[in-house]
Amino acid sequence: MDFDLPDEIEQLRRTVRKFVDEAVIPIEHAIDRDNAVPGSILREAARLGLFGITIPEEYGGSGLGALARCVVHKELARGGLGSICSIVGAHTGIGTIGIVRTGSRFVKEKYLPALATGDAIAAYAITEPNTGSDVAGVETRAERRGDRFLINGLKHFITNGDIANVITVIARTGRANAGKRHVSAFLVERGFPGFRVARTQDTMGLRGSHIAELTFEDCEVPDTNLLGEEGQGLAGALGALSEGRIGIAGRCVGAMERLLDLSIAYAKQRVQFGRPIAEFQAVRHMLADASLDVDTARLLTYETAWRLDRGHDVRAQASKTKLFASEAFGRVADRAVQIHGGYGYVSEFGIEKFYRDARITRIYEGTSEIQRDIIAKALLTG
Ligand SMILES: Cc1cc2nc3c(=O)[nH]c(=O)nc-3n(C[C@H](O)[C@H](O)[C@H](O)COP(=O)(O)OP(=O)(O)OC[C@H]3O[C@@H](n4cnc5c(N)ncnc54)[C@H](O)[C@@H]3O)c2cc1C
Repeated sequence: MDFDLPDEIEQLRRTVRKFVDEAVIPIEHAIDRDNAVPGSILREAARLGLFGITIPEEYGGSGLGALARCVVHKELARGGLGSICSIVGAHTGIGTIGIVRTGSRFVKEKYLPALATGDAIAAYAITEPNTGSDVAGVETRAERRGDRFLINGLKHFITNGDIANVITVIARTGRANAGKRHVSAFLVERGFPGFRVARTQDTMGLRGSHIAELTFEDCEVPDTNLLGEEGQGLAGALGALSEGRIGIAGRCVGAMERLLDLSIAYAKQRVQFGRPIAEFQAVRHMLADASLDVDTARLLTYETAWRLDRGHDVRAQASKTKLFASEAFGRVADRAVQIHGGYGYVSEFGIEKFYRDARITRIYEGTSEIQRDIIAKALLTG
């Protein structure tokens, strides 16, 4: 096996790192404080083609493989997991993966070109107040009326929900007594009658990127906007979530790499008892343990992406990868705060932002408990 990144991916990695180093990191504190990303950053990300990495070239994107996309996510996360990283992450992950994998030619031609350039933003809406981990249990209903569907229901916690132009909505279809798994996926445009962004929901971290509550009241969707077959939406939804998890793992790795860099630099320059704290064994061991977490998470993430690019079924491995990387991120963020002492806890030094961001990675796109269930099921039935 060759553990070096291919040249074109390494070149891409450097480009994204330069963007994050020059445009995002200098204002990361302001983004966190104001809970807003300047339009100039969104435009620069669009100019670099970052919104189109999942979208095939024939629709105006760059159609990158999973490994290259992971590397983009990793580098974006050096500037924090919220902000541009989360906006691009949700857009290029669950927001567009399902459209690319299961959309009809009509749907792809209609929506993908604007999504590839960032002129339109994507979101993915499955979660509801009564339905989180049990994705097959969605209560939002879509009823056929001739050549359209009427969607009724409420989604919440939807990343990019407030800014999205195109939202993949998972809704129950079929007769009232149809099986629990009779769900379908629809593409809903922001301007469709009956669709409304009810409110944004404040969060602990991921500042600069927002989640929103979305309501559907007799929201009219043409049946040409079905993604895949009616009643077959669950497999596509689970597939998009599984692929999206590799991107989340990549983001965890990027955030951990930054925290480790910051922790090493701080440990070398912070002097206590007349010596840099890097000379104390307790601090050195925290750095060593953090480095082990980062390297292990990176290897696992790259391997899973590499296997996906070779057409393997990586569903269980994607769960392992997201589980390990997110839990490692929690440990690394905790150690980074500890190494920085009080400075680690004070907002203006930026470490606590990562600590807040880390917490969500064990929850969204499938909690750690759900990942363990998926892994165990594969072990016991595979
Ligand atoms: C910042 C943020 C961004 C998000 N973005 C999106 C988005 O873009 N689109 C979207 O659709 N959703 C999104 N979500 C929702 C997110 O995916 C869900 O919150 C998550 O899947 C968990 O669902 P829940 O919150 O309803 O928790 P629940 O499913 O109610 O879980 C509560 C607890 O019970 C445990 N649990 C549940 N079932 C089991 C089981 N079978 N075995 C063991 N333990 C179990 C869980 O692990 C958890 O610890 C986002 C959430 C947040 C906070």
